[in-house]
Amino acid sequence: MTTIVWFRQDLRVSDNPALQEAAGRGKVLPVYVLEDPTKSGDTHPLGGASRWWLHHSLAALQKDLGRLLLMRGDPRMAIPQLVKQTGATAVFWNRCYEPHAIERDSDLKSDLKANGIEVRSFKASLLLEPFEIETKTGGPYKVYSPFWRALKDKTIDPPLAPPKALELADFKTEDQLEDLELLPHGPNWAEGWEKLWQPGEQGALEQFESFLTNGLEGYGTLRNRPDKPNISRLSPHLHFGEISPRQLWHRIRDGHDTQDGEKFLSEVAWRDFSYHLLYHFPKLASENWKQDFDAYPWVDSESNLKAWQRGQTGYPIVDAGMRELWQTGYMHNRVRMIVASFLIKHLRIDWRRGEEWFRDTLVDADLANNSAGWQWVAGSGADASPYFRIFNPMTQGEKFDPDGDYVRKWVPELAELPQEYLNVPFKAPSDVLRKAGVQLGQTYPKPLVDHAKARQAALDGYESIKQHK
Ligand code: FAD
Repeated sequence: MTTIVWFRQDLRVSDNPALQEAAGRGKVLPVYVLEDPTKSGDTHPLGGASRWWLHHSLAALQKDLGRLLLMRGDPRMAIPQLVKQTGATAVFWNRCYEPHAIERDSDLKSDLKANGIEVRSFKASLLLEPFEIETKTGGPYKVYSPFWRALKDKTIDPPLAPPKALELADFKTEDQLEDLELLPHGPNWAEGWEKLWQPGEQGALEQFESFLTNGLEGYGTLRNRPDKPNISRLSPHLHFGEISPRQLWHRIRDGHDTQDGEKFLSEVAWRDFSYHLLYHFPKLASENWKQDFDAYPWVDSESNLKAWQRGQTGYPIVDAGMRELWQTGYMHNRVRMIVASFLIKHLRIDWRRGEEWFRDTLVDADLANNSAGWQWVAGSGADASPYFRIFNPMTQGEKFDPDGDYVRKWVPELAELPQEYLNVPFKAPSDVLRKAGVQLGQTYPKPLVDHAKARQAALDGYESIKQHK
């Protein structure tokens, strides 16, 4: 008896219920299908950085499993075809929660079942599924704190060990990994990323161990400091399912049950919360949660958008973040909030343009976390930061990068500026600039907008939508 295990966002061997169930019944045919978004109708397709990660993660999974069948196309067609070709009697997968995935999977499930094929799906990528937790009055949570209070005392399933034995079905290899064309063409903007990241299950486990040893102590306070190593950088591994949140949960609760450990789990729970929101409000990624924001007078400025994307706004902490993103596929959470606020409030550019750029450039791009994050900053989301709370990029830089190490690393042309002027180079006297080798407008841009005026314009925009209510 052969069971097809369809891998998606669960690119791991341990704590993989679909794989384990299948392995216990007989031969397994592991498959990954790369969707073509132009045909599958996915409105939020994989971005370039995610595709880079996926390539390496699939390579690692192929190695860990022994073999992995790779296909391209619409899984609604590819999987039934594979069933016919191989005579498989069952198809198993671990559940995804994005609206496109839910629609695709339920179509496929009905089709396979109608043809007498056994279909089973499993919980593998969240602590609690969106339908496993509800408010006391019976609806979905819209506010994080009560969500976390309810989640933290629940029993979280223990992670599963890898299958004891795995007998692979005989299958003809279709596409080679290279045929999926996931790596950048033309300029290789991901050059050197192999040194920064180790996609795959082994890399995820090593990253987690390293965080437990070197980063967890102090996480509660230092997680806000982009110049410190006190974050896990597990987000791409979690997104692609190379490690599961319940593996994190039990390891922390069983050996690192400290305040820092609890804080870390509460952040992992934000991820569950984002999925909870997306599941119950499937338009989270494309529409304002708070509809009054539909009337916000966004400014459509391609040149300002480009300056932001390239890290050329003239505000050093914003530029440092955008350059870290471009050069590494990652940005620190505090800085994500600062750059997102700058785009939405200082430049008054629609948050969806920011979501799109992040989706293309982040290795951890994740529909739920990304759209929840952007709507949180915009003030248009559930449990969002109020719109009128506008981050000041100069004081944020001072507060969260007090020695300037982060800005100096990513904006090296300002490295010689004294700390006093590092976040406000445009306020530095000309002799200070000269000594530091900075020529404003030439080696480093003048501010794209004036902070006080931009702040006022953002508030005026907000007033105008309040009047629409
Ligand atoms: P750690 O601090 O070590 O946290 C551990 C894990 O908890 C993370 O890997 C992540 O899975 C989860 N987590 C932590 N903070 C959050 C949060 N605020 N919301 C949801 N989950 C969280 N995260 C993504 O994974 N993908 C995205 O596309 C994404 N886009 C974002 C966009 C904006 C505008 C903002 C403000 C935040 C976004 N985040 C996103 C959330 C957060 O910035 C990242 O999860 C975090 O920076 C990843 O680094 P880490 O793994 O070192 O986090």
